Amino acid sequence: MFSEEKIQKIRNQFPILKEKIYSNTLVYIDNAATTQKPLQVIRASQDYYSMMNANVHRGLHYLSQKATIQVENTRKKIQRFIHAKYSSEIVFTKGTTESINLVASSISSLIKEGDEIIISFSEHHSNIVPWQILCKKKGAILKIIPIYDNGFLKLRDFEFLISKKTKIVSVSHISNVLGIINPIKYIIDKSHEYGALVLIDGAQAISNLHLNMQDLNTDFYVFSAHKMYGPTGIGVLYGKKEILEIISPYQFGGEMIKNVSFEKTTYSDLPFKFEAGTPNIEGIVVWKSAIDFVKKIGLSNIQYHKKELLSYAIQRLRTIDGIQLYGELKDLSKKSSIISFNLNKLHCFDVGSILDRLGVSVRTGHLCAQPLMNFFQVPGMIRASFSMYNTIQEIDCLFEGLLKAKRILLKN
Ligand SMILES: *Cc1c(COP(=O)(O)O)cnc(C)c1O
Repeated sequence: MFSEEKIQKIRNQFPILKEKIYSNTLVYIDNAATTQKPLQVIRASQDYYSMMNANVHRGLHYLSQKATIQVENTRKKIQRFIHAKYSSEIVFTKGTTESINLVASSISSLIKEGDEIIISFSEHHSNIVPWQILCKKKGAILKIIPIYDNGFLKLRDFEFLISKKTKIVSVSHISNVLGIINPIKYIIDKSHEYGALVLIDGAQAISNLHLNMQDLNTDFYVFSAHKMYGPTGIGVLYGKKEILEIISPYQFGGEMIKNVSFEKTTYSDLPFKFEAGTPNIEGIVVWKSAIDFVKKIGLSNIQYHKKELLSYAIQRLRTIDGIQLYGELKDLSKKSSIISFNLNKLHCFDVGSILDRLGVSVRTGHLCAQPLMNFFQVPGMIRASFSMYNTIQEIDCLFEGLLKAKRILLKN
């Protein structure tokens, strides 16, 4: 856990944490949905528009070159952050969702009728629907890796599902509902034995784990900036160079072309072939500050702090009579700092509204994972997810809030 002094120093970097919600101090524990932004990031956004706004890659003029250099610097920074081999393997997108859509669309020419695509039971909707649509379009079959009651993937079943017919396997690195860290290295290697491509949804992992694309050897890895203290509307598709080279572009227009005539168009080299139109230049430039911020505090230190918070939260919430906690709770080395639960069969929205009145921001509902809700036979859950700036006192606020919700809602 960060010392009292250190945590205050970190919290001072996040102006929003001083906001009052219905006259209560904000307790922001919805970090799996999006994280708050530090001053360094907020200032970088202002600096970008104050000092370097211009379009990239086209202009020869000073500002355009400056903006282009900054964009390419972020690309290199992300390459190093995830240990990709080449910076041209980093494609900027709107975020995780768009990255998955890009891959599902661009590999479509490789999918034939009767081919199979494998995902898991615990995926976010954005890692379900694009594959469903692709299967429908191509007459391919979507197969689902089942899970145990504790949320772990049934790897034996995965071994039965995978075959020479499997063209792509797409699973999350960390479940956004249960926080479970999936054994993706095993899944990647097994899939490659059958010649299948692998996409890993890293939306939750990017702020939690040290990533090394070359060790993982995944074909695609996707994530968003806004879940790692960066801006919304910007994310990355990492793809192995040799695969990005053979798959089709996703969108067409400016930036992504080499030569255009009315007879024929040739495409740009990587990564620009996948970056049609003016990108979110500000988002890209500002993202770099978020990565610098994380590196300054240290991913390992952040990990350690969040793990302690999770451990405390589990201990504390467990003592509440009638609480139902979902997913793995014992081996915290296999879990990120996400905890989902329900209270005494109360509707999660009712509990969430009372917490909100107390200034406690949690996520409630199906958490973008309706199949997983069906698995647990609930309409929704309450999710608390912690970040580097959260404290023990804030978990106590959640705890007290839940007791209060019980007192109010069970009386009626
Ligand atoms: C947040 C999230 C997504 C979607 O990310 P966007 O930034 O909304 O595109 C996908 N998968 C997981 C596991 C997530 O947590």
